[in-house]
Amino acid sequence: MTAEEQILSLRTELQAHNHSYYVLDTPTISDFEFDKKLEQLKALEAAHPEFDDENSPTRRVGGGVTKNFNTIVHEHRMYSLDNSYSKEDLEDWETRVKKQVDGEVNYTCELKYDGASISLTYENGKLLRAVTRGDGLQGDDVTTNIKTIKSVPLKLTGDYPPKFDIRGEIVLPWDGFNAMNEEREALGLELYRNPRNTASGSLKLQDSSEVAKRPLQCLLYTITGNNLDIETQIESLQKARDWGFRVPEAAKLAKNIDEVLEFINYWDVARHDLPYETDGVVVKVNGLQQQEELGYTAKAPRWAMAYKFKAEQVSTRLREITYQVGRTGAITPVANLEPIELAGTTVKRASLHNADQIEKLDIREGDEVFVEKGGEIIPKIIAVDLTKRPIDSVLTKYISECPECATELVRKEGDAKHYCPNDMGCPPQIVGRIQHYISRKALDIDGLGGETVALLVKEGLITNYADLYDLTVSQLLPLERMAQKSAENLVNGVQASTQITFEKVLFGLGIRYVGETVAKKLAKHYKNIDAIIAATQEELVAVDEIGEKIAESVVAFFAQEQHLLLIERLKSYGVQLEISAEKLANQSDTLQGKTFVVSGVFGMSRNDLKKLIEDNGGKVSSSISSKTSFLIAGDKMGPSKLEKAKKFEVTLLSETKFLEMIANE
Ligand code: AMP
Ligand code: ZN
Repeated sequence: MTAEEQILSLRTELQAHNHSYYVLDTPTISDFEFDKKLEQLKALEAAHPEFDDENSPTRRVGGGVTKNFNTIVHEHRMYSLDNSYSKEDLEDWETRVKKQVDGEVNYTCELKYDGASISLTYENGKLLRAVTRGDGLQGDDVTTNIKTIKSVPLKLTGDYPPKFDIRGEIVLPWDGFNAMNEEREALGLELYRNPRNTASGSLKLQDSSEVAKRPLQCLLYTITGNNLDIETQIESLQKARDWGFRVPEAAKLAKNIDEVLEFINYWDVARHDLPYETDGVVVKVNGLQQQEELGYTAKAPRWAMAYKFKAEQVSTRLREITYQVGRTGAITPVANLEPIELAGTTVKRASLHNADQIEKLDIREGDEVFVEKGGEIIPKIIAVDLTKRPIDSVLTKYISECPECATELVRKEGDAKHYCPNDMGCPPQIVGRIQHYISRKALDIDGLGGETVALLVKEGLITNYADLYDLTVSQLLPLERMAQKSAENLVNGVQASTQITFEKVLFGLGIRYVGETVAKKLAKHYKNIDAIIAATQEELVAVDEIGEKIAESVVAFFAQEQHLLLIERLKSYGVQLEISAEKLANQSDTLQGKTFVVSGVFGMSRNDLKKLIEDNGGKVSSSISSKTSFLIAGDKMGPSKLEKAKKFEVTLLSETKFLEMIANE
């Protein structure tokens, strides 16, 4: 096989595996095998840039950065939908439809996915463009971001028309959404409210490799175009599936409105088991010829109708408003309710978010309130039933002092939340920080759980994470439910944590905005804590992927004397505050500030070569530009790479020369 044939066959094969995995949910190959083949394809493509294809499966990881999204006028306008809420609404609609069209009318029923709408344009089976709905007439070109979503086919299969648009919804399934929130929680950041907003926010991220990390899905429902040779909506859904698109199987043909209602009633219950959110059903006249006859109002098609599920709502009494203090000192007001059944669970509490929200609702203790469980994870208070307000009710006054430590609260300009600034003396902040320190992704301390931390703080045995290392078995034994064995486990677990790597320790320190990834970056760049402490804000910003906000937060953290003392103590206990000698032995900053492109076939694997570059402080890039310092050229490097290297005056290195370069230091 020639290289070209090999590339084409790998692309086709990987595309088919992607389709099985992301569209059909039935994997046909192990992740390991898949990655191996993808690496193989990457290597071949790098060696043969002349066979480049922007729709290759290797382009799924993103990397393109868009500063300003181009505005694109939709060739076919993207309409909204009219809403209905009852059987009567639907029957009225049917009457209107039947007045306008002749013959039998039947309907396709589909779920109404709650996400961000998208229009994809395909030409000759290739994804050409992806545009957001915008105002319906024009939207933003978000192709670079959409390409990272694995259920969007970059190339079609089967008997597709030469040119068409297909529309659908980008959704974020619950488990992906929850995982993203867990990570935010660990960082002490405010949680995302619902999957829909997060999905549409994702489309507008500037860095497509960030989008690639989000488990978004693209569900499709409408094909538009000219001369498509399709008669009905239900047929078009099947065709879309045949061409490689993800079209949910729920869609069903209904002969009349009674059958439509059957569908609605079924899904009103069953939707709670779907992996993503739906907020209703969309009913469409099935015949496309009939659709054409019906046409559009100024806002929506006359041939379609959305039926909105009722968000389940109940009313109950607000007993009391309390205030919670988070690990970072953020205050969250909480509505404590008379317990009530709602959508299958007992609801006792609801978040009130912040002071503005309380003011907006004019909510008061003793009020009868309406609670709804819609798209949000936490039940929401919609309104107060003013007719039932007790005559002696008093206006809610937001607290001005921390409920836990009585420190005066602050609210910075632009912040929705109040904060307790007493981070060193406020019990929930103290407990929260230690809980974060011992958590799995940080110091991962065995034998010590969140509850025990709270108990240890309450008993005055610890006030910060360094204190953990002074704990003794005899101190612990008098505590409630603490047997000899568990006390020993705890002390041993704490000791064992001195083996945890520097990057995890850095994450565990609980510096605001320093999550796992940022901690890794900082650890790798600075190698030890003293270098990070010494870094100025400007120096930090100069580090790849470290922004102003993070830099400011790091500097502020180490400007506090207490934090420096904590670090000194951790050091004295043997906690890893630098990259281990072994790791360091393989690392240097010889290549600091230099960007490499690797092309061709080498003695060592391309991955090992890339790792060597990165371990020595260099950066690897996939394409040659004016920013490239060196091109490491292997066997079988493509001619166009060479030409580009010449054009940008990039120095060529052989594998041997490169190895000499790092060995010389
Ligand atoms: P609305 O935004 O409430 O006017 O509803 C219209 C939107 O519903 C459309 O722009 C689509 O993004 C979305 N939608 C979700 N599922 C479907 C579906 N199965 N068919 C048509 N539109 C849908
Ligand atoms: Zn406080």
